Amino acid sequence: MYMHNISRDNLEIASKQLWDFLKPYLLYLNSADLEQVEIAFMQMVDAHQEQRRKSGEYYIIHPVSACITLADMKLDRDTLIAVLLHDVPEDTEVSLRQLEKIFSREVIFLISGVTKLSSIRYQGEDRYAENLRRMFVAMSRDIRVIFIKLADRLHNLETLDALPPEKARRIALESLEIYAPIAERLGMGKFQDKLENLSFPYAYAQEYKALVEEVAQEYDIRQNVLEHIQKNIEHIFEEEDIKNIIIYGRAKKYYSLYKKLGAGKTVDEVYDLIALRIITPDLATCYQVFSLIQSHFEPLENRVKDYIANPKDNGYQSIHTTVRDIETNTVFEVQIRTEEMHEYCEYGVASHWSYKQKSDIETHSFIDTDRFKWIQDLVNLGKEPLSEQEYLQYVKLDLFQDQIFVMTPKGDAIRLLEGATALDFAFRIHQDIGKHASLAKVNGSPVKLSENLKNGDLVEIITDKKQKPHRDWLNMVKTPSAARTIRNNLRKQGVKLGER
Ligand code: MN
Repeated sequence: MYMHNISRDNLEIASKQLWDFLKPYLLYLNSADLEQVEIAFMQMVDAHQEQRRKSGEYYIIHPVSACITLADMKLDRDTLIAVLLHDVPEDTEVSLRQLEKIFSREVIFLISGVTKLSSIRYQGEDRYAENLRRMFVAMSRDIRVIFIKLADRLHNLETLDALPPEKARRIALESLEIYAPIAERLGMGKFQDKLENLSFPYAYAQEYKALVEEVAQEYDIRQNVLEHIQKNIEHIFEEEDIKNIIIYGRAKKYYSLYKKLGAGKTVDEVYDLIALRIITPDLATCYQVFSLIQSHFEPLENRVKDYIANPKDNGYQSIHTTVRDIETNTVFEVQIRTEEMHEYCEYGVASHWSYKQKSDIETHSFIDTDRFKWIQDLVNLGKEPLSEQEYLQYVKLDLFQDQIFVMTPKGDAIRLLEGATALDFAFRIHQDIGKHASLAKVNGSPVKLSENLKNGDLVEIITDKKQKPHRDWLNMVKTPSAARTIRNNLRKQGVKLGER
């Protein structure tokens, strides 16, 4: 949430402006709850006082932005109060003890849950694993802790510009590696997209730039064609007298494209580069729309996925199909779902907490359901006598489904795409190790550089100064950055490369 024109030199004016900005988002609350949130707002201003963000703005902009994110999802009063106060105990003179006198135990638990989380840093494995453990414990007791943490993170990512590049990069990487996958596991698609889109340019600046250059034009072309197709589809619905349908194109998602390209696909093979979403009023209409799409366009083979009948693990529901528009020879993906499913796709678990469904909250029971058993599993795992490294390995194994973690001889965990080879690993450690890699050892046994790595492998690279990249190395790596380094090096060697 970007807020402009908030006073930078008069706290009283700034706080009034911020309250006026926030209040319209809070109108779904009853007046008693609204009053409570206003009290929290005033406490928050009182605690942070004249503190500033790195950007020079008043600090109070930050908790208000995070609060708007959650209010937009219509979350309950206590979550809003806690997000407003989330940085007070850590960053101001006002302690948690003092807040206890004013706010409920539930609110205090939420604040303390987030306060602990904010100390997650990449300072060596041990501290990191310890913090992850704490995070899952807090989440398992009250999942709203993670909603607050995600909203907090989102605003920090929106203001990364104000930070030194190295720090910005660390925060962005951490967001991609921990928070986006958690959002994904919780079915919070909107959060996941935002976290990924904001982090990607900072986490992998070069890759981001290269990708945008490569596909921006293609994106625009396809978007234009799709607008035309969308009109045709609207026309079909009119003729069939199907009403109350919302159709829209999906926004650009560079990070997800980057991941798909990393998994060995080419831009032409990524059919959902541009996708159409069709939201229907009810389930029957979903299938009616689906069959109309299948009959008016040319369906690609094996591209129908009925996630309505078979929801994804995180609860996602939709019918996906990929079809070709004969007139324009455009292949595109269509996602069809009901309004209810759509809300879940955007907000996932958090939609259970929205104001109108408060009865669900009282029970807290859904966290025990199979779908979110993974959170409890991660908590239980933390009670087992595992080494920090083992714990971390299991957590990541569970959290990232299309990624693997392998270990260096020193015990550092390295994240790679599933299907990555020993050569990918070598380049990830260091360009020079990649370029001069001659042999790998996996779990102590010598293997070829093209060997596929598995989660938890201990990998060692043996280098030879005389070694240099060969043309066939391009087929041996899965990571885009390794491929780019190899290509550059081959060019320097004078090897001619066909344009890809
Ligand atoms: Mn914060």
